[in-house]
Amino acid sequence: MTFSNNPEFAIQKDQQDPLASYRQKFLFPQHDNKPMLYFTGNSLGLQPIGVREALLQECADWEKFGVEGHMLSKNPWYSYHERFTQGSAKLVGALEEEVVVMNQLTVNLQLLLISFYRPSGKRNKILFEHKPFPSDQYAFESQAKLHGLNPEDVLVEMKPRTGEYNLHTEDILSKIEELGPELALVCFGGVNYFTGQFFHIESITQKTHSVGAIAGFDLAHTAGNLPLELHNWNVDFACWCTYKYLNSGPGSVGGVYIHQRHVKNPDLIRLAGWWGHDKSTRFNMEPNFQPMKTAESWQLSNAPIMSMAVHKVALDLFSEAGMPAIRKKSVELTAYLEYILGEVQNETGVALEIITPSNPEERGAQLSVIVLGATKSLVSRLWDAGVVVDWREPNVIRMAPAPLYNSFTDIYSFGKVFSNLLQAKP
Ligand SMILES: *Cc1c(COP(=O)(O)O)cnc(C)c1O
Repeated sequence: MTFSNNPEFAIQKDQQDPLASYRQKFLFPQHDNKPMLYFTGNSLGLQPIGVREALLQECADWEKFGVEGHMLSKNPWYSYHERFTQGSAKLVGALEEEVVVMNQLTVNLQLLLISFYRPSGKRNKILFEHKPFPSDQYAFESQAKLHGLNPEDVLVEMKPRTGEYNLHTEDILSKIEELGPELALVCFGGVNYFTGQFFHIESITQKTHSVGAIAGFDLAHTAGNLPLELHNWNVDFACWCTYKYLNSGPGSVGGVYIHQRHVKNPDLIRLAGWWGHDKSTRFNMEPNFQPMKTAESWQLSNAPIMSMAVHKVALDLFSEAGMPAIRKKSVELTAYLEYILGEVQNETGVALEIITPSNPEERGAQLSVIVLGATKSLVSRLWDAGVVVDWREPNVIRMAPAPLYNSFTDIYSFGKVFSNLLQAKP
């Protein structure tokens, strides 16, 4: 790809972009009556335009029908979660019986660990990536304690080579081999939230199975960011949130994938609730738990309709655009950002070290950049100049050009603002 650091180039790229019209379907925070240059879709995606109407629909049906809305509303609440089956399966490359939308991410991770972290004897270790999102680490620690184990004995963090930020797939595979019969579970983020590294899910899963362990993935930064083939890759379980790349609103409902072979296994331990019970007899209100024959059997509670109404609008945009097209644009957009950061470095002489892998196969729509000598005030100065990025201690800014709503012009304009700001003394 050859890029240019001028507005004509960016405008031309936007004109040629088959997904350009999606930008009109989102609401941007404003700065000086112009949309902000928003690069934190990996933290909280922007609001799709249809959200307000979808929420008002549920409010109106609740007003009109009260409890009968479970069956009579336009989108009956009783079966509301089924509206996601097709879209979620397509999103993560799963069979329809393998996915369900429920709860929130960390709750789902804990529920899945109950089923899939079953330490026995020497086989009790959990291998996870260097610097996982802290919530995941807390979940692993608490699960170890739940089994009467000392987290220090069973949690194994995969460290990078000295002086490096990212992990080599070959090192991960040999670590799995080394742990062998002591390994119960490998649980990585699909994309690490800090570095933006996209792990090789298929080969990690394959190697994990070859030593007799279970492979699960936290796809918080992966779902809606990269195309996935969870079923074909034979992944045991996965979970994701929907408020980052998937634009479904703060704290919105989460997604879960469980491989068919586990879904069909009624003996697998799971925490049960009435919404996981066979739906044809659920309202007999009988004591004996009969699990649904799909991932829905992990559901505990009836569905949070307001969050789901938002998620439906957002997920439909992904189903419509399709992950292959989204990914195609994403690869170029991220490469353009990488190029523009290089230009800013040349113009300003400020060292900008991108720690995200430079290989497009090993990253999605995120670049994590060390800005030498910068402090957190950089992010508020960018905000005051109309740019939204985020800050991770000690000196990393993370930027995610989201292919559904960010443009090449956004990135060009960011380069100008950033360059000026770095040249002006704080
Ligand atoms: C964003 C994120 C979370 C947040 O968890 P919630 O339960 O949604 O608050 C957890 N894990 C990872 C890997 C994340 O990226």
